Amino acid sequence: MSYVITIDGPAGAGKSSVAKNLALKLGIKYLDTGAIYRAIALILAKSEIKPDNKEFLNEALSEIKIELVNNEVLVNGFDVTGEIRTPEVDELSSLYSAVPEVRKALLSLQQEQKNYGSIIAEGRDVGSVVFPDARFKFFLTASPEARARRRYEQRLSKNQDADYEEILSAIKSRDENDSHREAAPLSIPDNAVYIDTSDMSEDEVINFIYEHVKEVLSKS
Ligand code: C5P
Repeated sequence: MSYVITIDGPAGAGKSSVAKNLALKLGIKYLDTGAIYRAIALILAKSEIKPDNKEFLNEALSEIKIELVNNEVLVNGFDVTGEIRTPEVDELSSLYSAVPEVRKALLSLQQEQKNYGSIIAEGRDVGSVVFPDARFKFFLTASPEARARRRYEQRLSKNQDADYEEILSAIKSRDENDSHREAAPLSIPDNAVYIDTSDMSEDEVINFIYEHVKEVLSKS
């Protein structure tokens, strides 16, 4: 029987890497909901539609088609997978994702992904709003400093510019936006297993979740 695993948590908690690896280990599909918010933010910003311009926003939302194809994100047929991973889009996605109309427009696209078999979804509200009935729910977090340090090292390893203090301040500002918005703020879903990864390696987090899921599945 197919099942859904959700992983929520703030920026830089290691959700993407953990979810991707778990999807491979468990042989199930990976759903990166942040990529969808990034794609819509990119296209709305490019179209110069401000988050508070409800009239244009609603019109644009009805015309934008987002598709997920093998972990690539297409907007009206164009692949934006590479373009959405920049510090500018980090900020834009946090801004536009606070708009209830944007969240509503993206809900069914996320929910229908479970129609194709078991999935592991990661984001900010996947355990609370998108898949409230998920069989397994996890909340991954770490101190802002630990998360900033990881992002800093990630960027250096990709030969990208990196300034630790700048990254830390951007992480804190995204935490503030994502946790205090009215529409689906980042929160720990009911019944989620809370994991503080500040002092854990990525492998430790992956193994912890993997063993938990396997144990429950073996008993059913
Ligand atoms: O996870 P990622 O950093 O790619 O997400 C980018 C932004 O998209 C987040 O800062 C958040 O504002 C928004 N987001 C959201 N709900 C989700 C996933 C992402 O609001 N389920």
